[in-house]
Amino acid sequence: MKERTLLVGGLSRVHDALLAAALRGVGVDTVALTPRTNRGLALARAVGNHGQCNPAHYAVGAVLEHARASGLAPAEFASTHAWLTVGSCGPCRLAAFGFEYSRVLAASRLGDLAIHLVDSLSFLPARGQSPLFQIEPSRARALLSAVVAGDVLSRSGLELRPYAVDPADVDAVVDAGICDLVFALERGASPLAAIEAHGERARAVPRDRTRVLPRVVVTGEPWTTLADGDPSYDLLRRLANHGAEVLAPTASDWLRYQIWTAKEDARRSARDVVPTREVDALDRADHEVVRLWTSLASAAGIDGASLADPDELAELARPYYPPEVRGGSAHLEVGRILMAQRDHLAHLALSLKPFGCLPSSALSDGIVSVLLCDDPRMRFLAIETTGDADATTESRVEMALSAATAVAERELAVACESRGLTSSGARLALESRAEQAPPPPGRRRFACTAAETLWRE
Ligand code: SF4
Repeated sequence: MKERTLLVGGLSRVHDALLAAALRGVGVDTVALTPRTNRGLALARAVGNHGQCNPAHYAVGAVLEHARASGLAPAEFASTHAWLTVGSCGPCRLAAFGFEYSRVLAASRLGDLAIHLVDSLSFLPARGQSPLFQIEPSRARALLSAVVAGDVLSRSGLELRPYAVDPADVDAVVDAGICDLVFALERGASPLAAIEAHGERARAVPRDRTRVLPRVVVTGEPWTTLADGDPSYDLLRRLANHGAEVLAPTASDWLRYQIWTAKEDARRSARDVVPTREVDALDRADHEVVRLWTSLASAAGIDGASLADPDELAELARPYYPPEVRGGSAHLEVGRILMAQRDHLAHLALSLKPFGCLPSSALSDGIVSVLLCDDPRMRFLAIETTGDADATTESRVEMALSAATAVAERELAVACESRGLTSSGARLALESRAEQAPPPPGRRRFACTAAETLWRE
């Protein structure tokens, strides 16, 4: 009997295409799920639990739209397809995604569609055998390559966009990167050569490095910060198109957090003897994620983009949000924002989450807004996604960016004064350094990259 076609989706358009290709590369019949849209959200919500937060309905709504677009009768679609998804974003009160998926599919006459809910740690070949290990190692290895390659390609696009003379060039470069990576992954090849080719194309994009731009650290509920399109108001891309440098979490960061929580749980549950084999396997998995990220980021020419250290985030957040508390992004939002504040990495902290997200809206926002209220250098903006507040979101983001840009311009003025430069002299100095690498990661004197570049001279 023919195997069911596997629908793969749930992150971004970049990741979904690569994940599907990686599974084809190891012999699985897959297609990338249609992107999540507000139309899909409405379809799912119409037959689902109205109290459920929107990631579940966006996700299963995409399946409903995919089924409709297939031209097959619902029963035939359901019996010939299966859906691979990573389930919910954490053990919070609303994380009953599997149950909600079944409810919506049954109500849409797709009840026979098989759902394969996998744990995030299933993507890690070095994790070793465990009850959570549901994907065989070759497939896990392929999926991990796809996740990290998708992160690197997305991050590279985000870094290029605010400086590109024509944003359409960035779209073309990212699209070409997706095509090359799909071609490589579905042949079971390493993504390295495709990422190197992307790096070459990225370096050729005309850029204006003299721009004085605000920097935004994005936090929030994990799934929404990774999703593009309607579920996130496409906010990362829009911020970058507005001329903001964006520091956003990646799926690789999320994997590292999952590994970190598994290690903490293993240590805590061991009364006398720390389970060394379990912790070693998790350490190997973490090293594998970092190794892959480092080599692909270097090939793409974004060496300066590092992954956050989970131990450091936990210790920064601990006085305000105990890392033992789980659900959604848990302490990560507080940790990331405090790190950005301490190292002066951003002018604006933007928290993006579905409406009513318990860990983010109810907990992190309350903590972060107090921690930042007296800081003139970094503001805080919380955006809840509802699928119908695009215009309001646009105006709130524009106002916040305007204030952040004013801070960046003041920083440039201070840097110019300290170096004895006029504004035209500063422009000439920045133009002459256009081909040099941007300031390295780590602590800054100025969040504004132009000011920091002049200051470091
Ligand atoms: S973390 Fe937020 S979005 Fe995720 S299930 Fe919980 S409430 Fe919903």
